[in-house]
Amino acid sequence: LKLTPFKNEPFTDFSLPENKKAYEDALAKVRATLGRTYPLVIGGKRMETKETIASTNPAKHSEVVGYTAKATKEDAEYALEVAWKAWEDWKTWSMDARARILVKAAAILRRRKHEFSALMSLEAGKSWAEADADTAEAIDFLEYYARQSMKYAVPGETHDFPHEENRLHHIPIGVGVSISPWNFPFAIFTGMLAAPIVVGNCVIAKPAEDTGVIAAWVVDVMLEAGLPEGVLAFLPGLGEEVGDYLVKHPKTRFVTFTGSRQVGLMINENAAKVQPGQKWLKRVVLEMGGKDALIVDETADLDEAATAAVQSAFGFAGQKCSAMSRLIVVDEVHDALIEKVVEKTKALKVGSGEENANVTPLVNAESFEKVARYIEIGKTEGKLLAGGNVDNSVGHFVEPTIFDDVEPGAKVSQDEIFGPVVAVIRAKNFDEALKIANGTEYGLTGGVFTKKRERIERARTEFEVGNLYINRKITGALVGVQPFGGFNMSGTDSKAGGPNYLEYFLQLKTVAERY
Ligand code: GLU
Repeated sequence: LKLTPFKNEPFTDFSLPENKKAYEDALAKVRATLGRTYPLVIGGKRMETKETIASTNPAKHSEVVGYTAKATKEDAEYALEVAWKAWEDWKTWSMDARARILVKAAAILRRRKHEFSALMSLEAGKSWAEADADTAEAIDFLEYYARQSMKYAVPGETHDFPHEENRLHHIPIGVGVSISPWNFPFAIFTGMLAAPIVVGNCVIAKPAEDTGVIAAWVVDVMLEAGLPEGVLAFLPGLGEEVGDYLVKHPKTRFVTFTGSRQVGLMINENAAKVQPGQKWLKRVVLEMGGKDALIVDETADLDEAATAAVQSAFGFAGQKCSAMSRLIVVDEVHDALIEKVVEKTKALKVGSGEENANVTPLVNAESFEKVARYIEIGKTEGKLLAGGNVDNSVGHFVEPTIFDDVEPGAKVSQDEIFGPVVAVIRAKNFDEALKIANGTEYGLTGGVFTKKRERIERARTEFEVGNLYINRKITGALVGVQPFGGFNMSGTDSKAGGPNYLEYFLQLKTVAERY
């Protein structure tokens, strides 16, 4: 397979009138599809279910974007059976042939990119740039994993031994389930299915209930690109029903999950228990939450730090596990920095993704209520400097909210809120700031703004996070450039978009022959 070197998909410049027009046209095109029903896809066949799941527009909860089927346990059982059958053939395909399907899918998506982004503006409430970045990342995952798979097409490196031939083969492991989140409903959904598939596994994809429509679109593209029927099943349903059933099933070989810590821990526990008839230990790849901090010290460029803080905290209304939810500021520059942060925050426009607002709605009523509850808690734990208002009448809107002078151990400093809420914590000096930053159970992203070289070096070694960013925002990891995944309670540090990710879905077989 001849491949050009990997390059990240460029983002769209929406200040150009032709791109603005293209996006508006895409929105109109997607609007014309609203209300359709998307069936299950098992073995390439489309299957309607008795019940369906409605996916609604977070900016206008009365508007249905589409319905997906709602799988039952019987459907999940059937999907496993079909996938194992398909695996018998799929595992024998050459790596080249499998990788070509990903490259083809990426090409199809590139041609239709604004349509997919526009769908996310409606289904997930993403602003144009946020949706565009999600789309670019989905394309990146396909292109990147296609290239990474080439490493495993040939035997691994081993040392020579006299009179023996020693080889290290990479072999696929089987059928697994991918349980993906609503916050990157295109990129993460695509990455979590493409990685296992390209190295010869079959996947049952269970998308998040809130964003089943975009997932159905992706599955269609994978089939259009030539993925054999049965290699990928589309199984929308309830997590507690089909997700749980598949995680516990003895025939499930691996589970990949991105979502909340609570669900991740449950999956970890359930997958660890060996079921009657099960003959392997399940591989589990977990990407969970974060309580991500940005440290700003007295030497920092405060304008740049303030811009990065606001972008990191309020992009997609803070609904990223990478989002900044703690701003730890060295006392000396606290007032000057906070003034800038508050000013920039107050300039943000709250509204829908479709109209390209800065702070878009929360995904659903449950998230909205949780964030609203934490805002009330924040009012008792800190000084409200910006925002604080919520409005659920039309869409799930929450103002970007900042609490000042919060204690490091306060609830809003410790719990993952997953919304546009920031706790500002004062530190005496850089040392104390770093200690506060490390004072959570999570360890996903973190950032430091400083001009002091020795502090940068200390952060490199002492800041306990999977993704550390220095003098820049802490969101928006690029595939292949910033492999993404966290420490501690943030997950298995599996680094999606990294050079070793595909190995989670391979087993290595050493073959030694004495001559
Ligand atoms: N990879 C994303 C970022 O760097 C975050 C992914 C997530 O929220 O799950 O911003």
